[in-house]
Formats: sequence, C-alpha cells, structure tokens
Amino acid sequence: MVVEVITIGDELISGKVVDNNSAYISRRLPAIGLDVRYHTSVGDNKDDISRVLRRAFNRSQVAIVCGGLGPTVDDITREVVAGYSLLYTWEGADPGAPAVLLMGHLDVVGVEPGTEGDWEHPPFAGESDDRYLWGRGTTDDKGSVIALFEAVEALLAEGFRPDVTLYLAIGHDEEVGGTEGAAALAALLAARGVRLDFVLDEAHRVAY
Ligand SMILES: [Zn+2]
Repeated sequence: MVVEVITIGDELISGKVVDNNSAYISRRLPAIGLDVRYHTSVGDNKDDISRVLRRAFNRSQVAIVCGGLGPTVDDITREVVAGYSLLYTWEGADPGAPAVLLMGHLDVVGVEPGTEGDWEHPPFAGESDDRYLWGRGTTDDKGSVIALFEAVEALLAEGFRPDVTLYLAIGHDEEVGGTEGAAALAALLAARGVRLDFVLDEAHRVAY
C-alpha cells in the first residue's frame, strides 16, 4: 500500500519550523505494515494544497495530512466536540481579555415523511440553479454559519488579527435542544476558564 505524508504550512516551506512529524510518522508506520513512499510539503495556498491532494489521491492509497505545525498567527485551531460539533479558536492579540463567541448550528429540522415530493427541489440534494442553492436548512442555520466563516476568511485574507480571542461554536443538535453539542461546548469553555464579553447566536438571517 502506497502511503504519502503531506505537511502543510508556509512556516515549513520557509524553514521557520522544522518538520519532525513526517519523520516520526515514517518511522512508526512500518510496525503496522504501512511503508511511506512520499513526503510532500506545501505552503498555505489553497490551490497548491488541492493540487497536492489530487496528486496524492492518484498515486497513493493513504494520505496522512499534518498541518498547523506553526504556530503562526493565521492558524485557527478547530476542535471536534461531542462527535460532531465544532469549536474554532482564533487567538486574539490579548489572549487574557474577555472573548467573543459567535454561534451557529449545522443540523436542520427533519422532513415530514411522505412530503419529500412536495419540495420544489429535493430537501437534501443541495441543488444549484445558478441563482440559488436550494436545500433544507439554508436559512436555519447554514446561511448564518457560512456568513461567519466567510467573514473570518475575509479578515484572515486581509491579515487581520482580533484584539480579543474569537470563538466560533457550531453545534450539531440545536434543533433537538443542543443537549449534546451546545452543552458540551459550554462545558469545555467553562472548564478552560474562558470569560466571554459578547455572544451572538443564530442571528437570522442573511439576505441580499
Ligand atoms: Zn436554528
């Protein structure tokens, strides 16, 4: 089986950080019957990364991707909480200051069995008609989630760094009460002693 190890980060390409991860992985994998054939390093460029991944899919059966060997200011840590909920942490210039928490959720209300044919577009197909992307949950709450990520990505592209730490907490079971996702996210932040100055949740809705 052909295994490829891919490391991602400008800090690796520039030599600011030395990549020990690939060597470690390559030493450990033969013990479970996997031999590494390729090491690839690529900078933080989206098109380059997708080219490298496509090449890996063509020539390797297994691709192991390591990123965030930083730390650099553009690194945003993502954690998966309670199986499916997501917590992104964008550290501010003053990490001790009270933080900002922006929330959204990925789950949607179900579809009444037997009514699937009543939809103009199938509720879970994600069909695009060039003007709109049609799908269950676009206004509640995927539109909000996309707006949050677009805003963060636009700010990252400008080289912006927030004064205070910004958290994005994206739940997976809001429509049934959030007892797993939001509860676990809140418990995690509380356990870390995070103090919040501002919280925004599900601010309907994004229109143009
Ligand atoms: Zn909602």
